[in-house]
Amino acid sequence: MVSFSGGLLFPIAPPRDASTARFAALNWQPAPVRARGVTVRLLALVATLAASIACGLTFAEPAPTESQAPSAADTGPPGSPADATDTRDSGDARGAGDSGDAGNAADAADADARDAADAADAADAAGSVLWPLSGSAMPDADEVRAAYGPRFIGRYDFHAGVDLPAPEGTRVGAIMAGTVIRATPWDGSSTAGNSVLVAHSDRRFTAYLHLSAIAVSLGDVLPAGGLVGTVGRTGATYSHLHLTYMRDLPGTTSDERKSRNPLEVLPHGPEAAPVATFDPMGVELDLASQVMTIQSVTLVGAGVTRTVNYADIVATGSIARDAPIQFGVAFGATGPIAGRYTVSLAFDPAIGVATDQITLTTFDGRTLLTASR
Ligand SMILES: [Zn+2]
Repeated sequence: MVSFSGGLLFPIAPPRDASTARFAALNWQPAPVRARGVTVRLLALVATLAASIACGLTFAEPAPTESQAPSAADTGPPGSPADATDTRDSGDARGAGDSGDAGNAADAADADARDAADAADAADAAGSVLWPLSGSAMPDADEVRAAYGPRFIGRYDFHAGVDLPAPEGTRVGAIMAGTVIRATPWDGSSTAGNSVLVAHSDRRFTAYLHLSAIAVSLGDVLPAGGLVGTVGRTGATYSHLHLTYMRDLPGTTSDERKSRNPLEVLPHGPEAAPVATFDPMGVELDLASQVMTIQSVTLVGAGVTRTVNYADIVATGSIARDAPIQFGVAFGATGPIAGRYTVSLAFDPAIGVATDQITLTTFDGRTLLTASR
């Protein structure tokens, strides 16, 4: 079983970097001796690939970045967050309506049960989401060094989680109540390091990477704030927690194609509308690392419009999402430095149109910025 899941990884996510290693690592679990030998060989192969890529791309760079590297950053989120959410929400709405009908009793009963469970989940989530390091429900309680989304780590990279710097040994708590569905000791090579995957009650999942020590076992039930492990730098170049937030994982393996911005659930303040500076072809945004709520960007120029949703970027997979050109838009990034970083946007050079207007929309559907040249 173990080797089976590891084998599946390759066709789905070609051995790109850490994320591949991470997938493999997250798949690993103590298994019968026979299966284990196969797994170890697979891991060794993945680790070798990851190490060779990571060394070139990441470890060459200076410390400030996650070094996190490309790898760490990618814990891979799932498909389109928006899609997952939308599906569920519309289902719930329909269910609520059905429950009032005499029509289909069986359907209504099912819907009622599901709605009740969802409501309880929502109440849980709303009442007790804590930042993992401080254990606080106050907005922005933990420092975010690298936000979800575009960033620079010696090259352009789409970060599928948030990085929270802290001294080694700092306590890491689950951000919501949940059950440990994977606890993976570091194999010495993967960029995930020691990692833990927690399933929450409403199809939400969180992964905690680079731990110096794991404090839980498979099946452990944790309250919000329950000890997961301690901050470390396993698989990373400096001591920090990489937190990945995912929705609707199909199994018990982390998948960054399902990742979403952790700030969708973590308590946070409002993101200030960024300053947009237009250059001859595109626009540059000055952003704060701490609060980044952008979900989609829209560029308009010379009658051409392109909208890119971050959910669609991560859904392309851990390798493809790091390509700077996505759905007709060319991305770039610098920083972070002193809590700020920049993201540059322009039409794909193949389109050859200058950007005259930009609109930024947040994950809760608000327009964060509309600016014109
Ligand atoms: Zn990271």
